[in-house]
Amino acid sequence: MNIHEYQAKQLLKEFGAPVAEGVAVLDAAEAKAAAESLPGPLYVVKAQIHAGGRGKGKFKEPAAGEKGGVRLSKSPEDAAAQVKAMLGHTLVTKQTGPEGKVVNRIYIEDGADIDRELYLSVLVDRASAKVAFIASTEGGMDIEEVAESTPDKIVTVPIDPLGGLTDADAAKICDALKLEGDAKADGMALMPILYKAFVEKDMDMLEINPLIVMTNGRLRVLDAKMSFDANAEYRHPELESLRDETEEDPSERRAAEHELSYVKLDGNIGCMVNGAGLAMSTMDIIKHYGAEPANFLDVGGGATKERVTEAFKIITSDPGVEGILVNIFGGIMRCDVIAEGVLAAVKETGLSVPLVVRLEGTNVDLGKQIINESDLDVIAANDLDDAAQKIVAAVQG
Ligand code: GDP
Ligand code: MG
Repeated sequence: MNIHEYQAKQLLKEFGAPVAEGVAVLDAAEAKAAAESLPGPLYVVKAQIHAGGRGKGKFKEPAAGEKGGVRLSKSPEDAAAQVKAMLGHTLVTKQTGPEGKVVNRIYIEDGADIDRELYLSVLVDRASAKVAFIASTEGGMDIEEVAESTPDKIVTVPIDPLGGLTDADAAKICDALKLEGDAKADGMALMPILYKAFVEKDMDMLEINPLIVMTNGRLRVLDAKMSFDANAEYRHPELESLRDETEEDPSERRAAEHELSYVKLDGNIGCMVNGAGLAMSTMDIIKHYGAEPANFLDVGGGATKERVTEAFKIITSDPGVEGILVNIFGGIMRCDVIAEGVLAAVKETGLSVPLVVRLEGTNVDLGKQIINESDLDVIAANDLDDAAQKIVAAVQG
């Protein structure tokens, strides 16, 4: 789960990190009073979307003005005008894709006088199998570009999970950022705060780009991107209120509510499969025969008829789907349950595209019988290869 910058900053503030004062607004009418509550004289007006690169982004609508999604203002009046200009408009950044994201919230923040912009992130590093800090003096820009052109300017500091972050680790990170004096003292205090927040909240990524040294020599978290490990969400009911559903894909959201693992893709063949490995190989074989999967969908081992029905509805609600492949290897999951689920779903939603069903495993004969005895127009398949060829042929023919 991703959250907005202003929420991430609020959370980091609770752990003791240095962040600026700020107010989030949903309505242009609140903007002037919000800006007036800040000390000034500089106000930063920041579009809140679940994507980075806002500063260099561009709005689709001319009414939003030429500037990007992060704007500096010198008065509460101008800050309010910028809020009004951006709200409700679509911001396109390097990370949003060409369709962009509609800006529904804006964060007005007390502006900082910047001396240096640094890069700092915390993530789960697969190579060392540890939580690691990534630090670079090249902040404020695209870290992928830095990694490409000057990889020696990126320092990785893995943290021993048993001992936690030590002073020596913090010092290494501060050195990588070339911090001195007050900024170094702030850095030595900040690193353990970030590590604690990361571990306690089960984050999977925290990116501060930039972390800044201000002209007064102190550190400040100027931007924050935070995401949490979905598998640990049950441990954090307190984070649920931070969820912004307008930022999530509605079908993925619906799938999550029914405990289905669903990822929408751009292809035309909808897949309903049990088990992540089988789902991956089903997607591979669809590609192998020259078509593209419309989704990844794992109904899981213990799916009920209701869940299968819901899965089917999610697949058919995708307008890009031109054919459906049901590929079930019944182990814990019984083939007759799948068959009944498919029938129930088709009864509810209708079926306007070709459907290929391949069943194998527990109660396969009963499953096939249920499908054969229905008046459903189903193409039966014997194995994975056969199933993939049949659905690709049905869609392309
Ligand atoms: P992003 O473009 O989505 O990554 O948004 P950021 O929060 O990183 O802001 C983009 C850029 O705006 C930063 O790299 C800064 O150069 C600038 N900026 C943001 N906040 C301030 C501020 O308080 N003062 C000044 N002078 N510049 C800021
Ligand atoms: Mg940034």
